Amino acid sequence: MDVLSSPNDVRCLVRRRRASGHLIGVVPTMGALHEGHLSLIRAARAECDTVVTTIFVNPTQFGPDEDFERYPRTPEADLELCREAGTSIVFIPNVDDMYTPDAATTVTVSGITRVFEGASRPTHFDGVTTVVAKLFHITEPDRAYFGQKDYQQQLVIRKMASDLNWPVTIVTCPVVRDADGLALSSRNRYLTDSQRRQALVLNQALTTAAEQALAGHRPWQIENTLTETLKHADGIRPDYAAVVDPDTLQSVPDDCRRAVALAAVWVGSTRLIDNRLLTFPET
Ligand code: AMP
Repeated sequence: MDVLSSPNDVRCLVRRRRASGHLIGVVPTMGALHEGHLSLIRAARAECDTVVTTIFVNPTQFGPDEDFERYPRTPEADLELCREAGTSIVFIPNVDDMYTPDAATTVTVSGITRVFEGASRPTHFDGVTTVVAKLFHITEPDRAYFGQKDYQQQLVIRKMASDLNWPVTIVTCPVVRDADGLALSSRNRYLTDSQRRQALVLNQALTTAAEQALAGHRPWQIENTLTETLKHADGIRPDYAAVVDPDTLQSVPDDCRRAVALAAVWVGSTRLIDNRLLTFPET
């Protein structure tokens, strides 16, 4: 496994591999790796000859009052996990390797970035699309792996890749959860034991949403139940909860067949997100 911090070194190595016939997969991460990240690396390993895992806590996707400084950084453990999961190249740049002080270019996807995460974190998606565009240019992947955990993010990346004619296939991998149902997240380590127990309501409410959809409840009824459940849950402050179209994140008609339930909540000073795809019976 090669561990590199220079964008040029990564590009040269990836190009050599491609010249020898390798299919290239990239897994962008912010480190503090857990089984969710590893599931992406393993999926890439199964489909690609060279797997590039990037580890970069990207400052531009954090708002001024967010947790950039205290975001967990565990580079040594990450490298070991990358190796075990089958990474070929780890790209672990410093901030200076990625952004010059006079950088003046931002990649912006409009529309779908304005709602939900984008409404609560107005500069977030510009930071995400700009850094992912840079990572795609540096690693020139055939396939790029993202988690359904960040549902809106993978839609935004798909939109960017499609709008910019990027020759990369975006692969979305299922949410990996702890045994108690909590979606794995690097931010879970901020939770106290009691907050962690309180956070379980997020997955439970989304599970109920999926069951209600299968039982033929209307999307607006499901959204109401989800909102009310989160509003009345101990220790939880909901940010948003909605049942919307899984491709556009717009509202859905009563007779829709598919939807996604999205929710973000605060547990103390920790913000958690989760989601569930909903399937409705034929009416
Ligand atoms: P992050 O390091 O939080 O930026 O996440 C890097 C990638 O891992 C993103 O594509 C996330 O959606 C994905 N990811 C994070 N948590 C999970 C999870 N629990 N299950 C699946 N994918 C995840």
